[in-house]
Amino acid sequence: MQGLYETEWKCAYTPATAMEEASRCLLCLDAPCSQDCPAGTDPGRFIRSIRFLNTEGAAETIRENNPFGAVCARVCPTERYCQRGCSRSGIDRPIDIGGLQRYATDYEAAINLEVMEPGADTGKKVAIVGSGPAGLTAAARLREAGHVVDVFERRSTPGGMLAHGIPAYRLPDDVVAREIDRIVGLGVTITCDFEVTSDDVEGDHCSMRDLLERYDAVLVDPGFQKPFVLPVLKDDPRHVSALEFLDLARTSKGTMDLPANVLVIGGGDVAMDVSTSLKRMGVANVTDVIYEQSCEFLCSQEELRGAQAAGVTLIDGYVPVEAHDGTVTFKHRVLDATLTITADLIIGAVGQRVEVSGLDLDVAMHGNEVATAGPATKDPRVFVTGDIAQGDKTVVWAVRKGKEAAQAIDEFLTKGGE
Ligand SMILES: Cc1cc2nc3c(=O)[nH]c(=O)nc-3n(C[C@H](O)[C@H](O)[C@H](O)COP(=O)(O)OP(=O)(O)OC[C@H]3O[C@@H](n4cnc5c(N)ncnc54)[C@H](O)[C@@H]3O)c2cc1C
Ligand code: SF4
Repeated sequence: MQGLYETEWKCAYTPATAMEEASRCLLCLDAPCSQDCPAGTDPGRFIRSIRFLNTEGAAETIRENNPFGAVCARVCPTERYCQRGCSRSGIDRPIDIGGLQRYATDYEAAINLEVMEPGADTGKKVAIVGSGPAGLTAAARLREAGHVVDVFERRSTPGGMLAHGIPAYRLPDDVVAREIDRIVGLGVTITCDFEVTSDDVEGDHCSMRDLLERYDAVLVDPGFQKPFVLPVLKDDPRHVSALEFLDLARTSKGTMDLPANVLVIGGGDVAMDVSTSLKRMGVANVTDVIYEQSCEFLCSQEELRGAQAAGVTLIDGYVPVEAHDGTVTFKHRVLDATLTITADLIIGAVGQRVEVSGLDLDVAMHGNEVATAGPATKDPRVFVTGDIAQGDKTVVWAVRKGKEAAQAIDEFLTKGGE
């Protein structure tokens, strides 16, 4: 039986409630919602289709534009994008665009609708390093343009953070698998447990140089795989990073053994994912200590409400100053106050970063991003995309950057590699 960790936290619309929600849409002529989707989806158009009982047409509008339409329907922070400018906000509340997108893409899955098709063979070959949403979006677009596409992924399952980071109660396995199957159905091959690295490493791998000998272009989508670790927690044996914990939670389907008292440190969406997952996996006491004060929280309101509803204890305004075998001392940022918490497990959720040193990637980095906008490296056949490229670090931006990279590669290949 499915546990709470794997049970979707939001209810789906029924045909009647979807119609009710779509009927609230004002069908704006100059729809503000359509200006704000990073992936370029036009919500006004698909909501109109739902309203006129054309759910298939709605699904087509979404899918033509976004190979991860069903994923974005569940995880996109719509309050920052399409819903932010929704005209209906002036009357009561914005249209639930994500919920209606989920309704349309669930319908697409139920009727096995296939919108994407491979293009006529061009004889050109592209290798993609990393199978996150950016790499796989580019893979879909490049197959639609008729190029051969092979994806190499170092983990045992594809999907990047969709399969190894975002918790299953927000993004179920079967939704991720369906999106990836659709891309594989276009003729994309994905080789897992295969790392692209420098020459001198043993095991299943190949180097960038090998790829460049076998392919006309290489797209690199490494994502942010390395956690930041607070220096104070570095040597504490009870500490693990949020990325390690979330990966284990997902791969164990929420059944891993956990102790009764867990301390989480961090205040972003990832910290809320960790804290809420722990509660949904049955941990009795979950305390999240946050550096920011409540008026400055970095997480979304939705994730915050989810953690509060799950029963997480949130303590704001404290910074860890000392840790020893599960006992952490914090100081308040403003007040002259200290706090000591002893836990069986400490999970640090203070950010993640890119790690490309093993890839022999010839790009100039500016902090966590490539220094130039767009797909640019010193070798004209090597392109980069995803979280490593400039822009928001969200799935919908990964889709946008995947599409941009595919377009740049297609132009490069069809203009004879000039
Ligand atoms: C816990 C968590 C929750 C999140 N929640 C949300 C959310 O709710 N909404 C949202 O929009 N965004 C969310 N994000 C952000 C979102 O997941 C990322 O922005 C997105 O996944 C980035 O896509 P990507 O394709 O660039 O990289 P990734 O998804 O990180 O995928 C990169 C892939 O490359 C592989 N790889 C790396 N190096 C190599 C190599 N040398 N050889 C072979 N393979 C390699 C990695 O194993 C990985 O599978 C979340 C992120 C995390 C960590
Ligand atoms: S802005 Fe809001 S009300 Fe107007 S078309 Fe878009 S979803 Fe409908």
